[in-house]
Amino acid sequence: MALIVQKYGGTSVGDPTRIRAVAERVAATRREGNDVIVVVSAMAGETNRLLELAGNVAERPDARETDVLLATGEQVSVALLAMALQDMGVRAQSFLGHQIRISTDSVFGRARIKSIDADAMLQVVRGGAVAVVAGFQGVDEDANITTLGRGGSDTSAVAVAAAVKADVCEIYTDVAGVYTSDPRICPSARKLARIAYDEMLELASLGAKVLQIRSVEFAKRYGVPVHVRTSFSDEPGTWVVQEESSMEDVLVTGVAHDLNEAKITLLHVPDRPGLAAKILSPIADAHIVVDMIIQNASEDGFTDLTFTVPRTDYQKALGMVKEVAAEIGARGVTSDTSIAKVSVVGLGMRSHAGVAARMFQVLAQEGINIQMISTSEIKVSAVIDAKYAELAVRVLHQALIEEGVQEGAA
Ligand code: ADP
Ligand code: ASP
Ligand code: MG
Repeated sequence: MALIVQKYGGTSVGDPTRIRAVAERVAATRREGNDVIVVVSAMAGETNRLLELAGNVAERPDARETDVLLATGEQVSVALLAMALQDMGVRAQSFLGHQIRISTDSVFGRARIKSIDADAMLQVVRGGAVAVVAGFQGVDEDANITTLGRGGSDTSAVAVAAAVKADVCEIYTDVAGVYTSDPRICPSARKLARIAYDEMLELASLGAKVLQIRSVEFAKRYGVPVHVRTSFSDEPGTWVVQEESSMEDVLVTGVAHDLNEAKITLLHVPDRPGLAAKILSPIADAHIVVDMIIQNASEDGFTDLTFTVPRTDYQKALGMVKEVAAEIGARGVTSDTSIAKVSVVGLGMRSHAGVAARMFQVLAQEGINIQMISTSEIKVSAVIDAKYAELAVRVLHQALIEEGVQEGAA
């Protein structure tokens, strides 16, 4: 007998028929003799609908109240799934975030989980019932409702799995697993049987929204085996696991893209120690995550500083940068929201050269200009014009995954 955490995303609980199908699957897992804790997202489209409602009553909806509103989406799903299970003769009890003390910090809209009280869930499960837990939500130390950022139910599920020491965390979604690229954009993408935590971390942080990045961090830290699969069939999906030695043999495991960043440039900044810190500190203090940063070579004691931020934080960051720019005597500030970041990821890059060079060649052959570059041990990213994003993904997938990279090519 195993203890299994199953997470169902928005599409899987998108309407009453699907909710009943999820209940059937949960019931079948119980019949096989397993204990089950289910984590659910809001019904497909619901979180967006709620955000739109907020935008209709206020120009800048308050962050705390936004979380109170958004958390209702998952409250609906847990209640409906628990009812559907009960209707099939399966005992079930729903839990909201605060009822199992999913404690988080107080950063509304992107809170981080600090701890979870496993006792209540385990008591229900040991008593022979299914615990149905609301994803995406938590509670801070002042009892405020918080949410974990878009896609946050993945993180709720893996954190719950870690807290109850589950044997596996199954993430049921609308594709059959983790693919070599987003299958909706790249029809030739292949499903991976296994992927290492570190590769999945990179893919998730580079735009592959199949798993929220924090969920992969939790999985890696607590060694939770994660199985990403579809709720529409029984086919096995992708296991996200500890690195295995054969994984380094593959140079490029995946291609990802991200359209959710914007670029800000400060022009002609006096090149003095401490200036980058002066420009970027207020942004960090506002919890805005700066991603890529480049500083152009300075010849005459001046330099240009360019960096990217999430598009949702762009207006705020731009306002801050304009203030600092005036203070430090920069010539001006320019910005661009129609950018895309395309990235290739693979453990094999650690020990093989040539991937970056091949990537740039492939983009050049399509006439795609590279605006910024960043690399880590196992990834290369390039910022390009957003209108070429899908083309870039497809040609990179073709050249680096389907055809493979020649070692040492440069
Ligand atoms: P859920 O609502 O189940 O959480 P999401 O929409 O958050 O589902 O995540 C699943 C989506 O992630 C897929 O529909 C797919 O378009 C997208 N995706 C992006 N990159 C990948 C990838 N490499 N492999 C699989 N899916 C991906
Ligand atoms: N409902 C939330 C969202 O749409 C959380 C999730 O689905 O994971 O982002
Ligand atoms: Mg998701």
